[in-house]
Amino acid sequence: MAAGTVQNIVVAGKSGAGKQPRIDVLTAEFGLTQLSTGNIFREYLGAYKKLGYPGTPSDFHRDGHFLPDAQITDALDPFAKAAALPTASAVLGLKAAFFVDQGLFVPDGITNELFASSFRSAKGRGLVLDGYPRTSDQSRFLLDLAHQMGTKLDLILMVDNDDEAIVQRTIGRRICPNKSCGKVYHLEYKPPREGRFCLACGSEVIWRSDDTEEKIQKRLQEFHEKAAPAIQLLQDAGIPLASVPGNLPVFTEQAVRNSVLEAIQALI
Ligand SMILES: [Zn+2]
Repeated sequence: MAAGTVQNIVVAGKSGAGKQPRIDVLTAEFGLTQLSTGNIFREYLGAYKKLGYPGTPSDFHRDGHFLPDAQITDALDPFAKAAALPTASAVLGLKAAFFVDQGLFVPDGITNELFASSFRSAKGRGLVLDGYPRTSDQSRFLLDLAHQMGTKLDLILMVDNDDEAIVQRTIGRRICPNKSCGKVYHLEYKPPREGRFCLACGSEVIWRSDDTEEKIQKRLQEFHEKAAPAIQLLQDAGIPLASVPGNLPVFTEQAVRNSVLEAIQALI
């Protein structure tokens, strides 16, 4: 197992399963870069918002469709030039903003376009994919894209955790709101001081409004209905899958590292 031989790894698992510590192992061990859909959305939305375009994304959406890219490009170009930003990124950002601003689910077509743009920028290799693919349509798109670029997905690492454990973990989660700190606590497993204060910086920890039982159950349902079949589709296309448990008896950096490396050893 030498760094440089692995092209891309897909990390899958339910929201709250504990993917990040495993991603950290993969990036450190194989010199890969994490490519998260969350970050891609933030990057492109940011590019669009930075333009200071005075209209709204709805200006370019008629009868359920966006106007042709050339028209959106023409309208945004002067603002992009003034802000010294690439217009293409702003156009993609505008399309994402149309849905995100209305609290709507971003359709696969737009998510795929955003993902492809970032994947191409990285020349289609050296990545840990996080949060993508999340639907069967996205899986098919990804397989085509990798094929077109002459790169491959080496394996899928599934971080396993049962639904009940995820609900318990997520409901008790508290986060330090201090941007330069951001430590994550759990009321039971890793309590903040007096149940309220960050151990590192002393800020009062907060509870994320995304962490209600109702929202957690909804995310779990999404996983079972869409993400699990999307991963199955990759496996059916011949990409091997290794599983690691999300909960370890002893949760240390070393234990996480060993569990990941043991699981994938036979596959690379
Ligand atoms: Zn803090």
